[in-house]
Amino acid sequence: MAPDFSSNAFKHLRTGYLPPDNEDDIEDVRASLTHRPRRLRRLPALREMVRETRLSVRQLVQPMFVRPGKGVRTPIASMPGQFQLSIDEAVRECREVLELGIPGVILFGIPESKDEKGSEGYAEDGIIARALREIKAECPELLLWADVCLCEYTSHGHCGILRGEEVANDETVRILSREAVVYAEAGADIIAPSDMMDGRVGAIRRALDAAGHTHVPIASYAVKYASAFYGPFREAAESAPQFGDRRGYQMDPANTDEALREAALDLQEGADMLLVKPALPFLDVLHRVKTAFRVPTVAYNVSGEYAMVHAAAQAGWLDGGAAMMEALLSIRRAGADIIITYHARDAARLLQKAKA
Ligand SMILES: [Zn+2]
Repeated sequence: MAPDFSSNAFKHLRTGYLPPDNEDDIEDVRASLTHRPRRLRRLPALREMVRETRLSVRQLVQPMFVRPGKGVRTPIASMPGQFQLSIDEAVRECREVLELGIPGVILFGIPESKDEKGSEGYAEDGIIARALREIKAECPELLLWADVCLCEYTSHGHCGILRGEEVANDETVRILSREAVVYAEAGADIIAPSDMMDGRVGAIRRALDAAGHTHVPIASYAVKYASAFYGPFREAAESAPQFGDRRGYQMDPANTDEALREAALDLQEGADMLLVKPALPFLDVLHRVKTAFRVPTVAYNVSGEYAMVHAAAQAGWLDGGAAMMEALLSIRRAGADIIITYHARDAARLLQKAKA
């Protein structure tokens, strides 16, 4: 029940709280101050008991960049602690991820070669299809999320097939459906289309079902903004557009009603989970999406959000670990059930330490 603010207990709020400057005043305040929220903040165990939002390692997904070669671990300069990995190294990393208690990884590929149509994205022996098969064989209990898009595989760096300088929606959707089936066949547990083409969730659902993958869920990047915070990812995935930008298909950061329309369409088309990307600059959108649809909601805590924390920590401007945990908790509080984050391993270690 809401406190009765007209009661005597709240008299000091109506009269204005003045710090007592003598013993009599202290007695007055003591008598009138019934509600003291600090009571529940005094002891660590008490604070923990009344905590409203919790972060568990079981809610985290680690993104991974896979490239050709053997024994390759190329550091990504703008994302300290993140690497481009050859498949053998990715398998090693997946074992570590599992040991830390992180239940899943999402894979991004850097292909041998790129072309106009992004062929390696949907080739059966493409980098991600091969990575999925090998990781599944070595770590069968790890949930493998396959990002479905073309920007890592096209020579022009756009997320689909070009007609002139425009990304052609329907031709792209056809290819994305093929890509999704190839990944499901290679062992993907969750298909995550990130291209922002219209109608792709429905098309991918039909293609998966027709190929016998009725049990494979779709986590759709339903709400993906054209964001400046993807900068470091483009270095990591070598996927910067060679001309123009992605505003013709990704969402305008100014819009939130549109986010609900996008999410509703994807659910109608058969999405099992909704994804909002980026996370921190769009917590209000995340909250609206979760509140409106009450379906499992994923937030992608993107490369730029990760890079900011690391850059400030390196400069000694803030405590990186504490800032990371606060950021992840805020994403949970806003409504995310699952967080895709480059912080996953560091957060897992801190959560383990907190438990010990
Ligand atoms: Zn893309």
